[in-house]
Amino acid sequence: MREKSVWRRACGLSDTVVEGLDFDDAAEAVIVSVRPVAKARRRCGRCGRRSAGYDQGEGRRRWRALDLGSTRVFLEADAPRVRCRLHGPTVARVPWARHGAGHTRDFDDLAAWLAVHTSKSAAMQLLRVAWRTVGAIVARVGADIDAQVDRLEGLRRIGIDEISYKRGHRYLVVVIDHDTRRLVWAAPGRDEVTLHRFFDDLGEERAARLTHISADMADWIAKTVAARAPGAVRCADPFHVVVWAMEALDTERSRAWNEAAGRRRSGLVLRRVRAKGEALKIRRARYALWKNRDDLTPRQEHQLAWVAKTDPRLWRAYLLKEALRYVFAVKGEEGKEALDRWLAWARRSRLPAFVLLARRIVVHRAAIDATLEHDLSQGLIESTNTKIRLLTRVAFGFHGPEPLIALAMLALGGYPPRLPGRN
Ligand SMILES: [Zn+2]
Repeated sequence: MREKSVWRRACGLSDTVVEGLDFDDAAEAVIVSVRPVAKARRRCGRCGRRSAGYDQGEGRRRWRALDLGSTRVFLEADAPRVRCRLHGPTVARVPWARHGAGHTRDFDDLAAWLAVHTSKSAAMQLLRVAWRTVGAIVARVGADIDAQVDRLEGLRRIGIDEISYKRGHRYLVVVIDHDTRRLVWAAPGRDEVTLHRFFDDLGEERAARLTHISADMADWIAKTVAARAPGAVRCADPFHVVVWAMEALDTERSRAWNEAAGRRRSGLVLRRVRAKGEALKIRRARYALWKNRDDLTPRQEHQLAWVAKTDPRLWRAYLLKEALRYVFAVKGEEGKEALDRWLAWARRSRLPAFVLLARRIVVHRAAIDATLEHDLSQGLIESTNTKIRLLTRVAFGFHGPEPLIALAMLALGGYPPRLPGRN
C-alpha cells in the first residue's frame, strides 16, 4: 500500500489510484497501472461533464510519463468511452493527461517548456521524441492555456503585422498589445477575411475601445481597420516605413552593382559577369548598408567608408535611409519637421527609388504623423517580428501552422508554459 502511494507521488499523480507496477522488458520501461478515483471517472473527455458509460473503447492504453532518472515510464489504464449529452460517445477524461494525448499532462508541460526555452535538438534528445510530436504537444498546451485566459481583454493600443513563414509562401496575421507588449492574437493568412476574424473574436464593444492601431500600409489592413474600429487612430508602423527605405536603398545598390559588374544587355540576352573587383565589394557592403549605424562592426564601417568614397549615389541613398530612421527615433513635432526636411531632400535626390518613396510617404503622411505624435513603440513591432521569424525556423518540421502559432503564443503571449510540479 505504502509502495503504491510512493509511486503515485513520484509520478505527480492526483485524483488517481495506482493499481500495480511492472517492468516491460521489450519497451525497457516502467509500467504503472492506474485508474481515476471514483469522482474523476465517467466524465466526458472534452467537456468534463459526468456522463453515462458507453463502451470499453479500444481497451487498455498507455501514456508516456516523465522519465524516472534515465528510465522511461508509461501509465497504463482502461480508456472507456462515455456518452456525453453534448459530444456523444467520447473517450472518458483521465486526470493525468489531456484529451486525445499520448503523453501525460506533466510530459506535455515539460515538452512545451523546453520548446520555448531550449534548442530543438536539446529538447528532442532529452525527451526522446520526434520534433513533430513536440509540435502536437505545443499545440495542445497552447489550446489548454487559451481556454483559460482572455488575451483580448483590456486592449487599447494594438499593432497588426503580417509575417511570412515557409520561405515566404505562407503568412500569419499577428496582433500585439503595445501596452503589455504581448502577442495577443495570430492566425494563418494575409487578407481581409483573416483580419475580420480577429475583430469577430474581439467583439464590437471591445473594438470600440481601441484608441490606436499601428500597422503597415497594406490596403487590406487599412480597409478592415476603418470598417471594424472606426474610432481608432491609424498609425503607420515605423518599422515598415524603414523597410521601404531599405528596399529603395537596395534598388540603388543593384544599380551600382550592375554598373560595376559591367552587366550589359546584348539584344535580349543578359550576359552575367562574375562579381569581382568593385562589384564584389558592393555586394559585400550589403549588410553594412542595411544595418543600423550603431551596430556596425569595424569591418563594416570600413566598407561604408569605401562606398562613401567611390559611389556618391549609393552613399546618398544610404544617408537617406539612415535619416528616415532618425525621423522615427526623435518622434513628436521634431520628428515631423525632420520628415518634412527628409521629403524635400528625397525629392531632390535624383534617386528614382527615393523619389518614389517620398511620394509613397506623402500618401500615408497622416498615419505616419499619428505614429510620431502617439509614440507607439517601433522596437516592439520590430522585435516581435524578428522573434516570430526565429520561431518559424524553430517550428520547421511541425505539422501545419497551429503548432507554430501555439509556440509563438507560449513564448510571447505572456502566459508561458509551466514546469511540472512547480507553479
Ligand atoms: Zn462533453
